[in-house]
Amino acid sequence: MTASPPPADPSGSSPSAEGQVPEAAPVAQELAAARVRYRTERDRRMPTGPGRRYTRLTGEFGYWDEDPYAPPEKTRQPLRDSVEAVVIGGGFGGLLAAARLRQQGVGPVRVIEKGSDFGGTWYWNRYPGIHCDIESYVYLPLLEETGTVPGWKYAPGEEIRQHARAVGRTFDLYRDACFRTQVTALRWDEETAVWTVSTDRGDRVRARYVVSATGTLSEPRLPAIEGIETFRGHTFHTSRWDYAYTGGDANGDLTGLRDKRVGVIGTGATALQCVPHLGASAHQLYVFQRTPSSVDVRANRRTDPRWAAGLAPGWHRRRRDNFLTLVTGGSVEEDLVADGWTGTARLQQKLIASDAYRDLPDGVREETEELADLAKMNEIRARVTEIVQDPATAGLLQPWYRYMCKRPGFSDTYLQTFNRPNVHLVDTADTQGVERFTERAVVVGGVEYEVDCLVFATGFAVGVSGLASGLFPAYGRGGTTLTEAWEEGPRTLHGLTTHGFPNLFQLGSLQNAASVNFLHVLDEQATHVAEIVAAARKRGARYVEPTREAQDAWVATIEEKAADQHAFQAECTPGYYNNEGMPRRRANGYGDGPVAFHRLLREWREGTGMDEVLVHAE
Ligand code: NDP
Repeated sequence: MTASPPPADPSGSSPSAEGQVPEAAPVAQELAAARVRYRTERDRRMPTGPGRRYTRLTGEFGYWDEDPYAPPEKTRQPLRDSVEAVVIGGGFGGLLAAARLRQQGVGPVRVIEKGSDFGGTWYWNRYPGIHCDIESYVYLPLLEETGTVPGWKYAPGEEIRQHARAVGRTFDLYRDACFRTQVTALRWDEETAVWTVSTDRGDRVRARYVVSATGTLSEPRLPAIEGIETFRGHTFHTSRWDYAYTGGDANGDLTGLRDKRVGVIGTGATALQCVPHLGASAHQLYVFQRTPSSVDVRANRRTDPRWAAGLAPGWHRRRRDNFLTLVTGGSVEEDLVADGWTGTARLQQKLIASDAYRDLPDGVREETEELADLAKMNEIRARVTEIVQDPATAGLLQPWYRYMCKRPGFSDTYLQTFNRPNVHLVDTADTQGVERFTERAVVVGGVEYEVDCLVFATGFAVGVSGLASGLFPAYGRGGTTLTEAWEEGPRTLHGLTTHGFPNLFQLGSLQNAASVNFLHVLDEQATHVAEIVAAARKRGARYVEPTREAQDAWVATIEEKAADQHAFQAECTPGYYNNEGMPRRRANGYGDGPVAFHRLLREWREGTGMDEVLVHAE
């Protein structure tokens, strides 16, 4: 079953709904037609009202945020003690910060984490089909330190979660960790040069150093759809999968759904992985789609034990560097990862700027990129028609936008799911999403789709870090909060430290460099922070704090190098990559890209950088 056919193309000469581009069409004509179609598809989805609205799992939906994996609650006395460092967040960012600090001899290190164990996003997300979508040999950190080679090219979520736990054990982080605990405030005491960290369990922990690593995908979000609170069927968010209701596990076989009509809202990277299992198990499945994902070949495979046995020391760093160099437009002798990410490296410059291709004149660079983009998207659209048997459904599943408008997706089972007779695609583009709910149904285009269970694959409030958003206030020198200090925009040195907030570090993507392999950049940041702390201890510094001058110079560098992605993003269908259709004028990252940024950090450490941040007693 499908709903609302794709709109007639205004140019009259564009590719058909099935994406068949007439072979004889001259490239320029094909490009012009694609641009028109991209614009049409964008306009259909652009919000007409107050913008795309999402809500957090609070109030009525607060129970969705409960931890389904928590062991029975044990009461504990509030802590009143001192550690050398507190790390906020027990996901891989926090684990990396803690591990790199431990390697420098810092201790005790206390990780404070909301979940009942380490893992962060991999703790909460256990939906059926969960896998990492970046190659696990480059995605997972600290592999050589823990003596691990992942069992699959794209590892399943449970293996990744177990790796997080192994990192915790290897670096002795369980001993001082505080789980099921959320930081509520940080307060700097100038006299003792120590932070007091308060939590929702009444703790008051004193720490010389604090590292915030609260992640970018930690706040599940719900679409603010009319009547959502009136729906009486069963509901949950993919990051809080309710196996008690669905049966089965992360490998599927959701026996509890055999007699159920199930709806899933959202078709992003998460849906690509769980929809095949829902389709295989549910009596009827309705997939409510607003924007189709691009779905390229996955080709997952088990790790060859002979290859794993032959890996020479240093292999992990070499492989990660090889991937990072390639996906940011650099050249390497051999593409070690050789997958859908490295194959589209050039197109990824549209999201993550780098200093590659600077030698080409602007017009030439743009045209070459657009043609390469069109070729890739034609290939992806053709793949849909090859796999999906019903032409109308295939038409709706084709993505009409440029490659980096949305997070690229990979699956060898998602599109195939729509050939099942019990699986129905419901397109919601014209109503800019699901219209409303009744007690029993999801309403789209006036049609009521009755379901027993609704799964929200609607993603996360992206980029909400505890520190920057003020979720927990940090009172720095003189009682000023970080959000007050940043009233006119963030001010940092390398994205990691801020004047007025001594010994406080934050990991993330603000004013530094990102990558699709986010854990790699977090590792570079964690290593940098740990080396600064090590230098502070060695040189007997009173604390670490960037000078105002160094911070101003960095903010100026960020502004000067900021890539202008506005024109590209303005033509994209709305989504979190372009701030839901309202792209920002300038990116807030280091415009020369992560390879150059990591080199800059190294040179800074090896040169006179430490003198800019180490403050000694008068
Ligand atoms: P996304 O934000 O990517 O997707 C949310 C989906 O919900 C979109 O398809 C969106 O449509 C849809 N949606 C939202 N509101 C409505 C509505 N009112 N009506 C209909 N549809 C709606 O979330 P995901 O959880 O899929 O992925 C988030 C991120 O998590 C990924 O981009 C990726 O970075 C990460 N991830 C990483 C994995 C890994 O292995 N490393 C695996 C899975 C996820 P629209 O597109 O139109 O906004």
